[in-house]
Amino acid sequence: MSDDWNFQRRPRVGSVKEVTSLSNPIIKDIRALSQKKHREESGTFLAEGLKLVIDALELGWSIRTLIYAKAARGKPPLEKAAAKTISSGGLVLEVSEKVLSAITRRDNPQMVVGVFESHYRPLKEITPQKNETYIALDRVRDPGNLGTVIRTADAAGASGVILVGDTTDPFSIETVRATMGSVFALPVSRATPEAFLNWAKSSNVDVVATHLAGSVDYRTIDYTRKPVVLLMGNEQQGLPPQLAEGAGQLARIPQQGLADSLNLAVATAVMLFEARRHLLSLEAPGKSS
Ligand code: SAM
Repeated sequence: MSDDWNFQRRPRVGSVKEVTSLSNPIIKDIRALSQKKHREESGTFLAEGLKLVIDALELGWSIRTLIYAKAARGKPPLEKAAAKTISSGGLVLEVSEKVLSAITRRDNPQMVVGVFESHYRPLKEITPQKNETYIALDRVRDPGNLGTVIRTADAAGASGVILVGDTTDPFSIETVRATMGSVFALPVSRATPEAFLNWAKSSNVDVVATHLAGSVDYRTIDYTRKPVVLLMGNEQQGLPPQLAEGAGQLARIPQQGLADSLNLAVATAVMLFEARRHLLSLEAPGKSS
């Protein structure tokens, strides 16, 4: 337990509500967050696991409801999260495992779940700086791919992920799971293809689009001249001409074997770590490997 934790800050008896029934209206509302419509209407989403909840609170995300299983009661980090939830006007619920399973749609649910306010970073607020790298995803469909890209972008030191066109929801439970918490660390923006291209033009960035028919080997590109936006295509269709033509360069990752393409998240990881490697080798010559 940390030093700043004291008895006065523990949740008071009576401020935690016990719920065991699936027909409780608060639980019904939380379960409805499995649907995009309800997430958008309420501006909230679910994150599972005590570590994720604590990370989100430390990063300043607003929590509306903290839900935990009876068996987790008394754990100091949980009590701390509960106290923080109550002091910011949120609700704390102690529930049965059956209720947690229903909320998370899992047989073996995590002991702790948080309902957080969702947040997109407006594209117009982003002014890319030299040495920054952004990822832009065209119509990404698969929640696992999106979550993995957000996680990878966070790990590679990217500055944000931009969702272009009609994409899967970054705040669905599947995507949040796949981000392993990085959805709280990395700003996510969204834009129409036109708004994205206009922003890219006015922001003086190098848009490097990836394409199976790209004319440039991704290893030969200079990623250090300007801030870079790596533009990745939809899983089934790749990039549409409008986006491919709006990019400065079309990069290809040379492949061998039978596969006609790489998985979207894998291709993003290859591009990102290459771009970041170029920048890191500038910062500390001789240190990159
Ligand atoms: N059938 C799709 C096509 O024709 O583009 C395959 C899309 S691929 C699964 C998803 C995205 O990953 C592509 O649009 C591209 O952005 C990127 N990608 C995958 N393999 C690549 C490669 N070898 N070179 C460049 N980009 C690649």
